[in-house]
Amino acid sequence: MRLVDLPSPNFGPRRGGIRPDMLVLHYTGMRSAEDALDRLCDEEAQVSAHYVIDEEGTVYRLVREDKRAWHAGRGCWRGETDINSRSIGIELVNPGHEFGYRPFPIAQMASLILLAGELVREYAIPPLHVLAHSDVAPDRKEDPGELFDWPSLAAAGIGAWPQPNGQDMASWSNAEIRELLGRVGYGTAWEKPDGTAWDGTAWDGAAAKTLLAFQRHWRPARLTGQPDTETVARLRALVREYCPANGTTVSA
Ligand SMILES: [Zn+2]
Repeated sequence: MRLVDLPSPNFGPRRGGIRPDMLVLHYTGMRSAEDALDRLCDEEAQVSAHYVIDEEGTVYRLVREDKRAWHAGRGCWRGETDINSRSIGIELVNPGHEFGYRPFPIAQMASLILLAGELVREYAIPPLHVLAHSDVAPDRKEDPGELFDWPSLAAAGIGAWPQPNGQDMASWSNAEIRELLGRVGYGTAWEKPDGTAWDGTAWDGAAAKTLLAFQRHWRPARLTGQPDTETVARLRALVREYCPANGTTVSA
């Protein structure tokens, strides 16, 4: 793994100096690696990440891990809204949905697995704290997107990948799905498109965007924002395997 120091001026202190226990993955969503690195090091842009990995697998270190990089913006996970203070951010070079979304190359994934594996061990990052940007901000983000290979990460001990059983395929209610999404970590204070509180009758507005974010991560073959048997089965399995019975997820 080739490591290049490329310090960015865009960082601050972590709130209360806390030690990070989340990992947030992104794609750069720009035409080239050079464009992305320039922007993430541009003081005027006010954005950064701790690491950037290009498509050849070179890792650029922009911000020290004890500092708060500016990658997640407004978001929520398990009630935490200052995601930047709690997390380490890794940007993967990829043009993204706007400029030609494409698979993440093997060399890039190999470097990510090495880097993320070290971070997960050093900071004791629990499986449900290894997240997509779209998980913490489902209303406005879709990165790193449905082509990202989460199962390979999980096979390397990084993050969560559920294994549904037959019982997980049973029928469901919308209220159950909402409760399970909340237990996984998603924000579920949803509003309908007209601004009123979600009433559980239809998967619309923020509820659909949150279920879509779940599908991008754990059910990438079906990006509808609507429940189906396999989406629900994977959600149930995720909760069963990674959230203890007292209703809270594992925390470091
Ligand atoms: Zn992002």
